[in-house]
Amino acid sequence: MQNTVNKSFSLSGVTLHGGLISNVSVHPATANTGIVFRRTDLKVPHEEALVEASYDNVMSTELCTKLSNSFGNSISTIEHIMSAFHGMGIDNAIVEVDCNELPILDGSSIEYVLSIEKVGIKSLNIKKNILTVVRPIIFNLGDSYIKVTPSNNFIIDYTIVYDHDLINKQKFIYQFKDQKQYKRLISNCRTFGFKHEVENLRDKGLIAGGSLDNAILLDKTGIVNNEKLRHKDEFVKHKILDFIGDIYLLGMSIKGNFEIYKGGHNLTQQLMHSLMSDKSNYKIVQHQDSNVQKYSNNFHPKPIAVSL
Ligand SMILES: [Zn+2]
Repeated sequence: MQNTVNKSFSLSGVTLHGGLISNVSVHPATANTGIVFRRTDLKVPHEEALVEASYDNVMSTELCTKLSNSFGNSISTIEHIMSAFHGMGIDNAIVEVDCNELPILDGSSIEYVLSIEKVGIKSLNIKKNILTVVRPIIFNLGDSYIKVTPSNNFIIDYTIVYDHDLINKQKFIYQFKDQKQYKRLISNCRTFGFKHEVENLRDKGLIAGGSLDNAILLDKTGIVNNEKLRHKDEFVKHKILDFIGDIYLLGMSIKGNFEIYKGGHNLTQQLMHSLMSDKSNYKIVQHQDSNVQKYSNNFHPKPIAVSL
């Protein structure tokens, strides 16, 4: 069944890119609402302040995912709260924000997860829709790619490559099981950045609120933060956290096996458009529908390749 939060909760903190204080309140919503953001700071009619969490509304993917509605009102850095909703199985919620960006908190999704756990999850009396990949797709962007194949599960096989001794080539295969496992393996993995890139990003008006409290900072030799890594492979796991959040912009959970090499917000965004552009790529089924079994076991077509 579809879920929402049992009660409202609020969190506050600095925003990563704007460096402003952002107050966010998450409220229960009825079935089939989806995740909807509402800018409470804008003096505009109610409709114009709403931004639906949909891949169709993505306007930018530079260092975060930014959504905009048809009135030009936007909300940035939505990927971590979206990851928490996806990981915790929250299908419907209204997210009120008094700023153009979500707070970065500790750079992971753990604070959202703990808040959801605290207020509880409420089951709604309507079945969950699940988008099921039925045709393999390979999506390339330079030397990065995402390859999707049908599966009865939600599997993310992620590889990152960075020229740094602490990362080099890091790979993790995550098969989504339940909320507890998402919390334990993924939710507290922080975003990361490199010291030599900070000045350039600040010149571009980005990461004004970035600090050692909300990101892992790497210099040539290691980690600048006093806090050690929370997982030995925290870097690739944070990329998985982001992917879980970004792919939830499809508006529902997904079943498929995603092999991702050097991914990012932009690649995920392009993949969603490519996937949804052809109805023969997927089926939308209701949870525990026997069709899920049928599609993944009996369908072995040739992959289609999409390149940019
Ligand atoms: Zn992130």
